[in-house]
Formats: sequence, structure tokens, C-alpha cells
Amino acid sequence: MLTSNYSIASLLDKQRQYFATGETKSVDFRLQQLKKLKSAIASRQDKILEALKADLGKPTFEGCFELAVLQDLTYAIKNLKKWVKPQKVKTGLELFPAQAKIHPEPLGVVLIIGPWNYPFSLMISPLIGAIASGNCVLLKPSEIAPHTSALLTELIRDTFPSEYICIQEGGVEVAQELLACKFDHIFFTGGTKIGQIVMEAAAKHLTPVTLELGGKSPCIVDTQINLTETAKRITWGKFINAGQTCIAPDYILVDEKIKADLIKEMKKCVESYFGDNPADSPDFARIINHKQFDRLQNLLTDGKIIIGGNYNREEKYIAPTILDEISPDSPIMQEEIFGPILPVLSYQTLEDAIAFVNSKPKPLALYFFSHNKDKQQKILRETTSGGLCFNETIMHVGVTELPFGGVGDSGIGAYHGKATFDTFSHHKSVLSRPFWGDLNWRFAPYSEKNVKLFKQIFTK
Ligand code: NAD
Repeated sequence: MLTSNYSIASLLDKQRQYFATGETKSVDFRLQQLKKLKSAIASRQDKILEALKADLGKPTFEGCFELAVLQDLTYAIKNLKKWVKPQKVKTGLELFPAQAKIHPEPLGVVLIIGPWNYPFSLMISPLIGAIASGNCVLLKPSEIAPHTSALLTELIRDTFPSEYICIQEGGVEVAQELLACKFDHIFFTGGTKIGQIVMEAAAKHLTPVTLELGGKSPCIVDTQINLTETAKRITWGKFINAGQTCIAPDYILVDEKIKADLIKEMKKCVESYFGDNPADSPDFARIINHKQFDRLQNLLTDGKIIIGGNYNREEKYIAPTILDEISPDSPIMQEEIFGPILPVLSYQTLEDAIAFVNSKPKPLALYFFSHNKDKQQKILRETTSGGLCFNETIMHVGVTELPFGGVGDSGIGAYHGKATFDTFSHHKSVLSRPFWGDLNWRFAPYSEKNVKLFKQIFTK
């Protein structure tokens, strides 16, 4: 149930009334709020890292990834005046001397629902765009990361009046109560199944949605590679945040000719990153809760363990694990792993690998390791995914001007950089014309001359 004094309906009502005052539309106001948010986060950096450690055992360095929202704020503050400028488009001669422009305007009151794996940045990152676009915002962080949820609540309540930006903690019940209301946009980050529930609820009000979802992100490895760099980048991408990253390489599809070499090299990487006993490493995170732990532990029974495989339920620890001899039909290949377990499958031809990937739902990310440009082009042409990296994992998420999002089952819409501003804006098409200069080609009574003129202008 709600913990605030307001019911959600009255809170929304207050936000609507506040939005109607027009205050949030002023660019100076938006800049001021972005700066306020930036200093609220900057002054709480240690607390944020502590909360992430308490929820996920996040190593300080990995917690710092979430503080990179400060850079996003700097970027938005620097570029906002450029983003809000109406964009001129061409008009035809028939409308001379009219002007046509695209005006970005705020959507109104928007809802942002977040997940638990990057529980701070995945709330703040969309919030930046929602503020930049001039909206009022209601935030619902994940109840599964309670320390970060509490910290976000303190930060938001301390920084903004609730009629402008407010936060509602809680689980499924609160989320459903929120989803029953009419918003002007819903931005949801989470699993594909819940994404369907969100979209269904939004459809009742014809509310547009951005769905940042998950799924299995494959990593294809060709023979034409730098083996050491490949192993380093895959194991890093897989084991940060103990594999609980939406774009972590979910499984490897490697050319059978180099499978043994790759496995050997990845084993070396894991040992060099986390030592002989990763349970003692300060650089390896923990599983978020026992429900996730039990789900992951069940997946360890598939295939042959090459490295890792040990666990400690009390500490919610699962070692970084690599599995060989995995059947494509095994349970681990049927769901998003979302934990520190990396199955390695092999292929005979690149065509086989592509066919396998294309037989599954469209992934959020696809990774291809090969320095052969023709093969890279083949992957680009013949597969589809939210994002694609050649010879890298995860890092595309950090390129501010690359829109980040899924396709098909992995999501709808995208954000980051200007794309976040665009996601939370309506792009209004505006035509403006003076009273002079009309060629009078469209008014009845129609004559042969009208027909001729129309054909001359519009049917070429
Ligand atoms: P989740 O879908 O279980 O929960 C996300 C949010 O939805 C939470 O705030 C939760 O309270 C709410 N929720 C849960 N059940 C609900 C229901 N029945 N009705 C309405 N709301 C409900 O996701 P999660 O477990 O927090 O996160 C893991 C998933 O999110 C993974 O699939 C991962 O790939 C995905 N993810 C995607 C991205 C991305 O950017 N695409 C980023 C992080 C995580």
C-alpha cells in the first residue's frame, strides 16, 4: 500500500495541475532542475555506492558506473538549448511563403518504473531526459534493491516538490496501482514478461511506452581474432555485477576450431580478475536475493563445469562459472541467465551461428568477435538486435549519442543522450503562413486549370 499521505490519484492530480501552470516548460527552469539533480547526486556519491554495495555487493568500481549519470547530466545541461530549438523543414513552392517547423514539447506527466540490477542509474538516466523535456515525473524504483530504493526516495524528496517530481516506493501492488492510472508516457525497464503487462495496462489509456527489456544476448566468436583480447572483453562483460546486466553476453557461440583455446584463455582471465577463490575477491558482486540465487543454482546442473560452479546460499554467492557441453535444448538456453554463468556452444559455419541466433527472439545486444570485415558485414546484414558490437562487449551502452534500446522481444524505443530528450518529447509539426502569396490553386469551383496546375506540382 501507499506510504505517502496522498493517494496516487490525488498525487497525479497535483502533478497535472502543476504541469498546467507551464512552469516546467521554461528552459531556464529545466536547466535549474538538472543542476539541482546533479548536485544532489554529487553530494551523495558515497551513500549511493554504499547502497549499491548493500543491495548487490557491488564493488566500488562497478558502483561508479552508476555514478556516470553525472556525466549524462553534464551532457544534457550543455546541450539542452540546442535540443529544444525548433527544427526548420522545407515546404513546397505551393505553400510559399509558409514556414514549417518541428517543435519539441513536453508530454505531461510521465511514469518511470525501474529494475534492481542497476537500480540507481536506471532510474536517474531516464529522469534526466524527462526533466530536460519539461515533464512532471512519477518514479517507481525496484523494491528488490531496498537500500537504493530508500536512498533514491530521500534524494528525490529532498530535491524536488512532489507536484513536480515524486517517488513511490513499493512492489507489484504499487506498480499495478500506478499502471491503472493514465500517464502521458510510461518508461519501463525490466523483464520481457512484465513488459507485456505494462504494455497491456498502457493500451487501456492509449499511453505510449518505452520498454527497455532483456533476453539472451549472444556472443559469436570467429577464428580471426586476437584471442587474449577476446577472452578479456567477454569475461569482463559477463562477470561485472555478477552477470546481472541486461546486455551481458548470455552465451558464447564459438567456431569449433578455436573453442578449446578460447575456454582456456577465458579461464585464465577469470583467475586473473578474481583470484583462486572469487568469494574472497572484493571485485565480484553478489546475487540480489535468494529467489534469483535458487533459479541460478538450478541452471548449474546443465553441461560440464569448466571453472567455478561453487556457491554459498547464505552469502548469495555464485562463482564466475563457465559451462561446456551444453545442448541448445537445455534449460539454460531457454531463459535469460542474468547471473555469473556462461555457457559455451560451438558452430561449424558462420551461417549456422547466424541461423541459430535468428531462430531465437531478437536480442538486446549481439556481440561478434572477428577482425574480418566481410564477416562483420555479414553479421550486420543478416542479424537484428537492439545493439551490435564488433570485438567488444557492453561498451556501446556508454556511447552517449548511440540510442540504447531493444527490438522485438527485447524492447520498444530507445534512450541515452538526445534520444532520451526525444523519448520524453512530443515533436509537434507546425505550419505557419501569412495571409499573402496564395496561388489559389485549390479552391472550388475547380477548372481544367486547377487540374493542370495540381498535376504540374504534385504528380511529378
Ligand atoms: P522486473 O520486470 O521483474 O521488474 C521491473 C519493475 O517492474 C520493478 O519495479 C517491479 O516492481 C515491477 N513489477 C514487477 N512485477 C510487476 C507486475 N506484475 N506488474 C507491474 N509491475 C511489476 O525486472 P527486474 O527483475 O527488476 O530486472 C531484470 C530484467 O530487466 C532482466 O530481464 C533484464 O534484462 C532487464 N533489464 C533491462 C534493461 C535494459 O536497459 N533493457 C536494463 C536492466 C534490466
